[in-house]
Amino acid sequence: MKQLNCKCEVPSFSADGTEDRRVYLTFDDGPNPLFTPEILDLLAEHRVSATFFVIGAYAKQQPELIRRMVAEGHEVANHTMTHLDLSTCGLGEIEREILEANSAIRMACPGAPVRHMRAPFGAWTEEVLAVSTKAEMAPVHWSVDPRDWSRPGVDAIVDSVLASVRPGAIVLLHDGCPPDELKPGSHASLRDQTVEALSRIIPALHDGGFSIHSLAQHY
Ligand SMILES: [Zn+2]
Repeated sequence: MKQLNCKCEVPSFSADGTEDRRVYLTFDDGPNPLFTPEILDLLAEHRVSATFFVIGAYAKQQPELIRRMVAEGHEVANHTMTHLDLSTCGLGEIEREILEANSAIRMACPGAPVRHMRAPFGAWTEEVLAVSTKAEMAPVHWSVDPRDWSRPGVDAIVDSVLASVRPGAIVLLHDGCPPDELKPGSHASLRDQTVEALSRIIPALHDGGFSIHSLAQHY
């Protein structure tokens, strides 16, 4: 998929030439009633903020988790209403998918600012960018993808993140799973590797001199 004009990394040098060792953790496809609370607990324990690209249909089902994210200083962002591949959708459907997700977030947490949008599967098109911009959201891709959704093993997730992270990196992780990818019986172990990996990634990033932020804390 062609990557259009969307943010993959945050510039890490300030005007005076000093390098800022910030990294940005992002979680897609939630909120999930089992795994999102565990991830929020870990973030709280380490006092770091993250950005959650939530699916609107799940935000409707788990409004208390949206409120908890906001109350604990995290950013809630848009990952569409039902996680369709927007590159296969007409303009009307793209608008519905994006705008209804914002309504679902704001229904759960009135007044929550929704400033960033990530297309499902990273499938950006000019129309998706135009609709996002019109709704005053900046498109955000990623620069570090350990493919945690495929459950490659905790070590593989940790090693992949630590091997490719650098100042300004936007790290893609998953606290949930899109509706059409949920397999019967798999729910209890769905994101267990992500949670365990996160418990090692955060201290390792801190040891490496990185500070961890939500995208809302930068731009
Ligand atoms: Zn997704």
